[in-house]
Amino acid sequence: MKILRTKDDLKEAINKIKNLGFVPTMGSFHKGHVSLIKKSKYKCNKTLVSIYVNPKQFNSKKDFANYPRNTAKDLSILKKIKVNFVFIPSTKEIFKEKRLKRIILPKKHKILCAKIRKGHFEGVLDVMDRLIKLINPKYTFMGEKDFQQLFLVNKFIGKKYKNKIFPCKTIRDKSFLALSSRNLLLSKNHLIKAGQIAKHLFKIKLSLKKKNQIHNYLLIKKKDLQKQFNIKIDYLELRNEKNLTTLTKNKKSRLFVAYYINKIRLIDNF
Ligand code: AMP
Repeated sequence: MKILRTKDDLKEAINKIKNLGFVPTMGSFHKGHVSLIKKSKYKCNKTLVSIYVNPKQFNSKKDFANYPRNTAKDLSILKKIKVNFVFIPSTKEIFKEKRLKRIILPKKHKILCAKIRKGHFEGVLDVMDRLIKLINPKYTFMGEKDFQQLFLVNKFIGKKYKNKIFPCKTIRDKSFLALSSRNLLLSKNHLIKAGQIAKHLFKIKLSLKKKNQIHNYLLIKKKDLQKQFNIKIDYLELRNEKNLTTLTKNKKSRLFVAYYINKIRLIDNF
């Protein structure tokens, strides 16, 4: 496995590879990341994983500082599953060139996390644009766990380059909680609670089939869950999975949630 830290080293290492799979990450690997990497290894001749905690996509310095990091453990996992390349750039290296055109999300996309975490997706799109331009992969593998991120990257970057974005299913733990690096910040009790919340939300999604007043029903459920689990829910919304517009019927729909449990923000969709 080649560990690459500069753009020049990266270009030299991958320049002749045609069928390259790319898995962008912020590290602190769990089985969700591993599933993306395995998918890439299956579909592509060579796989490159990037580990970069992008300061531009964090809303607060504290959240950025507290984000779990464990590069030594990550590298041992990557070696074990025989990844070809890992790119671990510095911020200076990634953001060396100034962007000519500012990334601006259109109003219709300022929903869910984009409405609440101002500048978050602009930061995600900025770094993803730089990485995909640099790496020029055939496929980029991204998780449905971060569905809105997947949607926006596909919309704004997927078509700009030859690269195709390949969506991968959400991996959950035994308690049904979606794996996330942020789960490392939760106590055992909060992890149990988060698993119970995930099961509740899944049941709510199923029950929507029989409901007519979906918007009102979800408002009631939001209040109930906040009270029952002592959490603060940012949003609980059913949306069309093709274009993320709101739905009245739940065909091809996803239930999106973001909530705080003991000051840690988790997101999921069902
Ligand atoms: P992150 O390191 O959290 O930025 O995630 C890197 C990639 O892994 C993103 O495409 C995520 O959507 C994906 N990912 C994170 N958690 C999961 C999960 N539980 N199942 C599948 N993919 C995931």
